[in-house]
Amino acid sequence: MSTTGPEGPVHGTHGTGNAARSDRAAGAVTGSAAGDALGAPFEFGAPGVFSARFPDGVGTLCGGGGWDPGEATDDTQMAVLVGESLLDNDGLELPDVFARFRRWAAAEPKDIGLQTEDVLTSGDPWDLAAALHFQINAHAAGNGSLMRATTSAVYFARQGRTATMDAARRIAALTHGDRAAWEGTAVFHELVRVALDGDDPLTAVPAALAEVHPAHRARWAAVLAPDWHPDDATEFNGAVWPCLGTALWALRTTSGFESALAAAVDVGGDTDTVAAVTGGLAGAVYGLGAVPERWTRDLHVPLPGYGGRVLRTADLVSLALRLDGSAGFDHPNNYT
Ligand SMILES: [Mg+2]
Repeated sequence: MSTTGPEGPVHGTHGTGNAARSDRAAGAVTGSAAGDALGAPFEFGAPGVFSARFPDGVGTLCGGGGWDPGEATDDTQMAVLVGESLLDNDGLELPDVFARFRRWAAAEPKDIGLQTEDVLTSGDPWDLAAALHFQINAHAAGNGSLMRATTSAVYFARQGRTATMDAARRIAALTHGDRAAWEGTAVFHELVRVALDGDDPLTAVPAALAEVHPAHRARWAAVLAPDWHPDDATEFNGAVWPCLGTALWALRTTSGFESALAAAVDVGGDTDTVAAVTGGLAGAVYGLGAVPERWTRDLHVPLPGYGGRVLRTADLVSLALRLDGSAGFDHPNNYT
């Protein structure tokens, strides 16, 4: 795929593999946040609302529906919590991730998934809460573990396919008892890993599917097939299957970061999350330089429960570079 976005070539001419990888890692984390903020005002809207609002194709982080322009929602807020836990603990400490989620949920964020809220406010211990919820509710294959997975996908990418997919399942299981959500989050982790290596995640789908639990493989293969279309979805895209399927469809049927996100939001439904997932993948493919400046300028991530902290694009880039292990890399952009 091209590394030239609609805004022109990827910033910087470093010429080293590490520099390109850093740009992709920063693109994944920032791109997911940008998708979240882009889609938030259109949540639960009908198909075509986004293209009707922006007929010239130049979408802005316009805000609305309770969201300020550029404000990222629970998807990115939880992704930041996961990423910071991984860095602070130098690895995956599931009780710590759960405790950070709980602290955030207790601060009553503007948006929180129904299932995530139930699990985090149940008072049950970290290693039982999601399983107990699943026992009672049975339906627990929401997209809420997939939506927050970009930071952990960047962090575990260097450890290889098996390690990153395993970590994805464990983090997903903190809030989602249904293995379908674990497997979808694991596939996402693997596709981000491939993209960060500079390869095409679309061609990596069969190998990722081979690692999916056999009981779940056929259903995942259906929504990740090259001819799948969002109209083929058998559930609302708040479910994990059509959410990831739509993200791949958006990546497959467009040729740049911005157009991929516009396609994702224009599908309607759970637009912030579908675009957050799309943005994580597309950002890893096209790099930070493909994320429009008019988006990175206004993008911000409030963190309820954490003393009024608000992360800006520069903070997301810094987080991404530390997760990638390339924190010493001096990125040419000066995001303030
Ligand atoms: Mg959200």
